[in-house]
Formats: sequence, structure tokens, C-alpha cells
Amino acid sequence: MIELEHVKKIYKGDSYETTALDDVSLKINDGEFVAIMGKSGSGKTTLLNIIGGMDSLTEGKIIVDGKDISRLNGYKLDIFRKDNISFVFQNYALMQQYTVYENIELPLNARNYKGKDKKKIIYDAMEKLGIKQLAEKFPKQISGGEQQRTAIARAMVSGCRYILADEPTGALDGATAKELMDMFNLLHENGKTLIVVTHDTAIAEYAERKIIIADGKIEKEEQ
Ligand code: ADP
Ligand code: MG
Repeated sequence: MIELEHVKKIYKGDSYETTALDDVSLKINDGEFVAIMGKSGSGKTTLLNIIGGMDSLTEGKIIVDGKDISRLNGYKLDIFRKDNISFVFQNYALMQQYTVYENIELPLNARNYKGKDKKKIIYDAMEKLGIKQLAEKFPKQISGGEQQRTAIARAMVSGCRYILADEPTGALDGATAKELMDMFNLLHENGKTLIVVTHDTAIAEYAERKIIIADGKIEKEEQ
């Protein structure tokens, strides 16, 4: 379970101070499929990055499985992220210098998988996502939808329980976006916890729960 307690995030510069999150408290249970919605600039990306341990918070706590991760230092936070969180980003999810196969392989290498076992897991995931024929291609040589599938395959094999996505359908046409959401459903059915930022109400319909934020605060929740 992920719990946010009175989370505040203020971005400070020489000439500005922006409160991106203002006293956000929420709970996300394991296995839930949650959509985070709200206007541009409302704090969605900040919220997702904070949940994923990619950004620090100014005040408050983030507790994952009873453990406060908000005060973890760099190395411990890296370990926590590697074991628990998988990001499916819009454009920059993949390592550009690695092939599709090698990208999917990364989390398995980190967990010391080797040889035939590793290869089988990768091929099974590529098969499920219909990207087996792209194994030797580089991200630049495949479409946006195929890049997303690669990122999902990587999330699938990673063993991570939490899958986070920031506007994953933003750059995709309607049909490809629907395919992507079907894959999120597949991950959800496999017991993963999904947290997806979107401003597309059709996409949010896939989620079990919608959290709407406005001006850095939770405005309302819908089932
Ligand atoms: P959303 O994803 O909903 O569009 P963001 O979380 O990106 O919103 O941004 C929330 C607010 O925080 C906005 O006012 C934005 O300008 C500001 N903000 C986001 N990231 C930074 C940053 N790195 N430095 C300064 N201000 C930022
Ligand atoms: Mg954003």
C-alpha cells in the first residue's frame, strides 16, 4: 500500500516559489488501478514523480508498505525504486542506445537472471505484447506505440509491483491508445498496481478510481 500524508511540494528558484502540491493525503491499495486527472499545471506529474521516488518532497511523508521512503538517501532510494517502481513514460522510457531486447533485459540483469531462463522470460513478454519481431531494433527505429509496448514488457518482467505512467497515450492515435490501455488492463489483471496520469476521460474510464487534482490539492475522487 502507498500512503501519502500531508505531502507538500514547493519549487523554489531565485525569482519564484511555486506550490505544486499542497497538503495531499491519499492511500493507494495494492492491485488498484488509479487514474490521476486534472488540468495542465495542476500538479499531476509532480505527484506521480513523488510517488515514484523521482522527486523529493518539501513536507509530509510517503509510506510504502509501512516504510517511510520520503527520507531515504540516494542509494537506498535507488534500491527501493529498482525493486518496486516501474515507469512507463511517454517518450523517454527507453534507453536509446539499447535494442528492444536489451531494454527489456535491463531489470532482469539487475536481478541477476541469466542464460536461457532470462531469454525465455524476455521472449514470453515480447510475444504477449506482439513485439518479438522488433527484438533487434533500436527505439528510434520503431513507432511510439511499439516503444510503449517495449516499456510495458519491461515493466512486466521487472517484478515491480507499482507501474507508473505519465500521460502514456499523449502521443498516440486513438486506436493505439486503446491497445495500450488494454495492455494496462493485462498488467492490472496480473496483480500490478497501476497509477496513470491522464487528462483523457476515455482513458480514465479504464481505471477503478479517479483522483482529480486542482491547484496542487485533491479536488475530488470518483469511482
Ligand atoms: P501537471 O503535470 O499537472 O501539468 P506539474 O506537476 O508538471 O503539473 O506542475 C505543477 C506546477 O509546478 C506548475 O505550476 C509547474 O509550473 C510547476 N513546476 C513543475 N515542475 C517544476 C520545476 N522543476 N521547477 C519549477 N516549477 C515546476
Ligand atoms: Mg504533467
